[in-house]
Amino acid sequence: MPDYRNLIGGELVPAPRMMDTVNPATGEPWARIPASGAAEAAAAVEAAERAFPSWSALPALARAGYLRKVSEVFGEHAEELARLETRDNGRILRDTLKRDLPGMAYLWQIAAGQCLDAVRGDTVQLGPDALGLTRREPYGVAVCIIPWNSPISTFSAKAAYALAAGNTVVLKPAEQASASVLRLGELLAEVFPPGVLNIVSGLGEEVGDALVRHPGVGKVSLTGSTETGQAITRASADALKPMTFELGGKSPNIVFPDADLDAATLGVTVNSVYTGNAGQVCVAGSRILIHRSIWDEMLGRIERACAELVLGDPLDLATTMGPIVSAAQYERVTSYLELAEKEGARLVFGGRAGAEVVPDLPGGYWVAPTLYTSEDNGLRVCQEEIFGPVAVAIPFETDDEALTIANDSRYGLAAGVWTRDLGRAHRFVRDLRTGTVWVNTFRQMPPGLPFGGVKDSGYGHDAVLEYTREKAAIIKI
Ligand code: NAD
Repeated sequence: MPDYRNLIGGELVPAPRMMDTVNPATGEPWARIPASGAAEAAAAVEAAERAFPSWSALPALARAGYLRKVSEVFGEHAEELARLETRDNGRILRDTLKRDLPGMAYLWQIAAGQCLDAVRGDTVQLGPDALGLTRREPYGVAVCIIPWNSPISTFSAKAAYALAAGNTVVLKPAEQASASVLRLGELLAEVFPPGVLNIVSGLGEEVGDALVRHPGVGKVSLTGSTETGQAITRASADALKPMTFELGGKSPNIVFPDADLDAATLGVTVNSVYTGNAGQVCVAGSRILIHRSIWDEMLGRIERACAELVLGDPLDLATTMGPIVSAAQYERVTSYLELAEKEGARLVFGGRAGAEVVPDLPGGYWVAPTLYTSEDNGLRVCQEEIFGPVAVAIPFETDDEALTIANDSRYGLAAGVWTRDLGRAHRFVRDLRTGTVWVNTFRQMPPGLPFGGVKDSGYGHDAVLEYTREKAAIIKI
């Protein structure tokens, strides 16, 4: 089995304790990763602190040069990194290879172009004899904590902008899927000066907690669950560290009768909750709101679209839906299948899990695409994030009712609206309480637009200015 190592101060180092990482398509361990603790967290933060003065003093264009080299690494190692990530977390190769890796090469180029934005300030004429000015400054050491569902993409969305702004970084991947990011660490050790980028893997409550509490850390950015966001807020309360939180969701995807129903069907199925990540996507449209006049037709369309999904080995380019990431997540998703039945949700299709779903890979964590219907948005399966290929369809009659149901959630990450009515589209963009609204499309997150949530889905977003603070100066002339 390959052993992956942490990247600390430019060196690739194993931790005293290692742990297995499991291929979710087979249930078999396939590599070992560091199970880091407080000592590794401290070493990584101290290395980042030592690297900060010279990295932050570099002219913005020199920093941009480093970021462009990262973009080249993504181009040169796309196939290797995509395969690694697919093996490690089950995200289908179609997505990692064709969607994620090309997107990352592009994202690091964009971040390189934004290095100058991070050093741009304002001047304010305060009167004939005084001038005000602002300057942007990096926070110092930025700790970036990421989940397992798209490690390379989330790594990039945080590290690229944090580094562009002149911070040094300690990144912690998720214990369920760290290999692709640790491999990136091996490649990027050749790119950055020692200590500018550090990567430590391990359990959230061990190394993650130690990083967040470390007094040398100036900024924390988490993509993860709402509960982890709350835990990190409590852990760092004494130090008042600035936070960016991209957290969970229970996104509504709303279909009106005037929509292009072919596009809407794709948008609520393949491009939403039954995706290559088997619904393990923060923006999964797991509540499908359907106008009563097209209720039966849409349920039929969704069932037919899901019947065409190909479940199986995620490394096969013909596969369109992979496994659940881990045994623990499998337990969680299947517990919601039981709960849905208890709560009285009606099963339309699916509801199956285990070896029978993909008999060729009996050890994998498989859940069939599943749809329930419910008249009541108050059920727990309508309110709680399941993070699997399980959706609930909910009927509505009026625009007001659709809005009320859509906004009746503790989460506010994203929403989809399918309509040809321009006025209605703008009204929903205005009135949906979410960080992103997609109209006649879904799951598009292009760099250059903010991506983040409201309510329990978090606050802030990963962008270059988010990794800077503004200082004011007043100069008497
Ligand atoms: P998680 O919250 O369990 O873990 C996320 C990361 O936080 C992991 O690296 C974990 O080790 C770390 N962590 C856990 N406890 C910690 C602690 N006490 N201190 C410091 N770090 C800690 O989430 P997950 O199960 O890995 O991922 C699924 C969740 O992430 C879902 O809720 C999903 O919606 C969310 N997510 C959100 C986005 C977004 O952009 N909004 C994107 C992807 C996933």
